[in-house]
Amino acid sequence: MSNNVLLEVKNLKTYFFLDEGVVKAVDGVNFKIEKGKTFGVVGESGCGKSITAHSILQILPPRGKIVEGEIILHTENGPVDLAKLNSTSQEIRDIRGKEIAMVFQEPMTALAPVYTIGNQIMEAILLHQKNVTKEQAKKRAIDLLGRVGIPNPEKRVDAYPFELSGGMRQRAMIAMAMSSNPSLLIADEPTTALDVTIQAQILDLIKNLQKEMGMATMLITHNMGVVAEMADDVAVMYLGKIVESAPVDEIFYNPKHPYTVALLKSIPKVGKKVKGRLESIEGMVPDPYNLPTGCRFHTRCPSYMKGICDKEEPPEIEINTGHKVSCFLYGGR
Ligand code: SF4
Repeated sequence: MSNNVLLEVKNLKTYFFLDEGVVKAVDGVNFKIEKGKTFGVVGESGCGKSITAHSILQILPPRGKIVEGEIILHTENGPVDLAKLNSTSQEIRDIRGKEIAMVFQEPMTALAPVYTIGNQIMEAILLHQKNVTKEQAKKRAIDLLGRVGIPNPEKRVDAYPFELSGGMRQRAMIAMAMSSNPSLLIADEPTTALDVTIQAQILDLIKNLQKEMGMATMLITHNMGVVAEMADDVAVMYLGKIVESAPVDEIFYNPKHPYTVALLKSIPKVGKKVKGRLESIEGMVPDPYNLPTGCRFHTRCPSYMKGICDKEEPPEIEINTGHKVSCFLYGGR
């Protein structure tokens, strides 16, 4: 194994045990994130991409449970299987916010409305770093707010989240996430709630901080444009499974899985005039309590082969170095 690997997820299964039945939100997912690289996870809402991230940090809702698999984080002190840790243990608390930090779509999820942003960043610093005084933590909070592009940070450090715009709140949350120099930043739809100009600024900010600090990023998005802009490697998820994964250029110039092809057709291309409406993906996402047999995409797939695709799950096949696809069109029958 390359010692550049920071996080390895092996056969991860996270299920929700609800009154209506069992939802297999993540169902046998495998991937690796390399140190300093950006790993994009893309798919429609409900495909399991956020639940994968929540599983890594052990912040699942009460009815969600990791039922199988490993999540190996390579730390300075050796590998740790996060899937085996209790969600309330000191070990996972030390990892959350220190080794792995997360930014959410809506900053108000992470920022407490009744404390100033300075106080919240200071608290994160004091929690994870030893021998730091309150004054030093405040200085660092101001420095971080400046680094994430918040003007007049000496003043804004005393602002409450509601006093900041959506873009500024997102910057403040990124400052909080950066406060412990994490080795991995998980960004879950970090720009979805923002308008287009601010989106580009926040993506640039994440990119620059990543370069400066050498951290890896797991970027979760439904937006192929964001993936193209940011990711080194990409995994495409559909109904709890990774259906295709590859370096970013392979995904965009040589997509194989019919779902990836459909996702790419549904985004506008710069410089190309769109005649009529953009293509949308046929059909509805199936009921999560009642998943299709065989290939989970078969109810929407234009290349569906009756008697094959609805019978068995397609195995994962490596068709090029680092380019894997699960589809009978490429073998496995
Ligand atoms: Fe389509 Fe069959 Fe491939 Fe599934 S296995 S994506 S249904 S062709």
